[in-house]
Amino acid sequence: MKIGFVSLGCPKNLVDSEVMMGQLAARGHELTPHADQADILVVNTCSFIDPAKKESVDTILEMAEYKKVGRAQKLIVAGCLVERYRDEIRKQIPEVDAVIGTNELDEIVALCEGTPAEANPFEQYLYHDLTPRILATPRHYAYIKIAEGCDHPCTFCVIPQYRGKFRSRRFQSVVAEATRLFRQGVREINLIGQDTTCFGEDHGIQNGLALLLERLAQIETAQEKWIRFLYAYPNKITQKLLDTMAQYPSLVKYIDMPLQHASAPVLKRMKRGASGDIFLKLLERIRRTIPGVAIRTSMIVGFPGETDADFRELCQFVEAARFDRLGIFSYSDEDTSASYHLDNKVDARAIYLRKRRLAALQRKVSRTRNRLLVGTETPVVVEGVSKETELLWEARMPSQAPEIDGIVMINDYEDQPPQPGEIRKLRITEAHDYDLVGTLLASTEPAANMTDGDTVNAPLVHIGPIPKSPSPTPAV
Ligand code: SF4
Repeated sequence: MKIGFVSLGCPKNLVDSEVMMGQLAARGHELTPHADQADILVVNTCSFIDPAKKESVDTILEMAEYKKVGRAQKLIVAGCLVERYRDEIRKQIPEVDAVIGTNELDEIVALCEGTPAEANPFEQYLYHDLTPRILATPRHYAYIKIAEGCDHPCTFCVIPQYRGKFRSRRFQSVVAEATRLFRQGVREINLIGQDTTCFGEDHGIQNGLALLLERLAQIETAQEKWIRFLYAYPNKITQKLLDTMAQYPSLVKYIDMPLQHASAPVLKRMKRGASGDIFLKLLERIRRTIPGVAIRTSMIVGFPGETDADFRELCQFVEAARFDRLGIFSYSDEDTSASYHLDNKVDARAIYLRKRRLAALQRKVSRTRNRLLVGTETPVVVEGVSKETELLWEARMPSQAPEIDGIVMINDYEDQPPQPGEIRKLRITEAHDYDLVGTLLASTEPAANMTDGDTVNAPLVHIGPIPKSPSPTPAV
């Protein structure tokens, strides 16, 4: 059968899509990026905040249209929306033929082939290095999910409710998967989980993430490799972790550490603790241990009880912290979250204005930081021809994670033209608020052999314009 996948949400969800696609391909089914040619369409959904839920429902309805205008016989909904609204989806979107939760990934073959499903939706699922998986990312980078679930009590967050308790993969399983991916030509591995800094704790390993990074850095590869981890929890950043990052060149000098706020009273109501002063000391320790490290964080504005004074404190903190990257989220009042029951909700207009104000502040920080880079040289991984124009190529510095941080646009090169996936030096010639422009310098690498091994990258269905039929959006 021809099967089309739409993958929404975060890289953790993308890995789930890749695992489902891997199992179907292992059974001989074909994956297609063309929704109108698919016999079965699978929408892997996200539901952590309202906008994500809306996008998931809209996409399900868009794909449902292909049962009318395409050859799709079956529409399957997977992912986090299923975990939260399994019954509502079944009742309110009759076009959906089957649903599959995040702990039932092994059931995708049975669902597509119409054989009885066996998985226990309550058993905590986590793939391993022998699980068939097809990468949906460009050939030169991949995500490895090293853990799933979360035990932190953040009051605004509903993820633990449907991703379950924290559980790590086996140390050797991650090492085996990384070794195979590097051997197949992947240059950059991004370790992910809800909280990567807890890796190994449930197996009794102290400093598990630091030990894992050290082991991965020791994997022998013919070419330069990059290893990055995302989603660090602030009070889990140990000196051992920082020292390990400073010691190995292949461990990119990049820390993604959501802080969520800087006002102590707000952090207390979020059940995250700490304060802006504590975070500034942590940032100072990180920057002292790893010179030139790039730091990414994310903040929530409009959390219940956030006063003007709290917001001012957050702005002063962001100005002092000078983050390289900052994601800003509007508080989403999730009905199953603990914060849903808090008083002093902030009105939508105030949330909107605070988000705009903080974004404007960070734009200035980012612009100033980028201007200081003009004239410097940096390694970059070449992504490919720009999506905007064929006259430019896109690349990323080690301080730019895939898909969430800015890019470097290559408008000139010395010696050889750019090759997707190669790592090469670049001189920065121009700075914009978030992106940079530069000249690719002569290559010092042996010719990249990006095609060997069986890393066949799976084509995802990209949501595109299809003939619209006026069906109302049900209230999931
Ligand atoms: S650490 Fe992240 S995933 Fe875990 S509860 Fe907090 S916000 Fe949610």
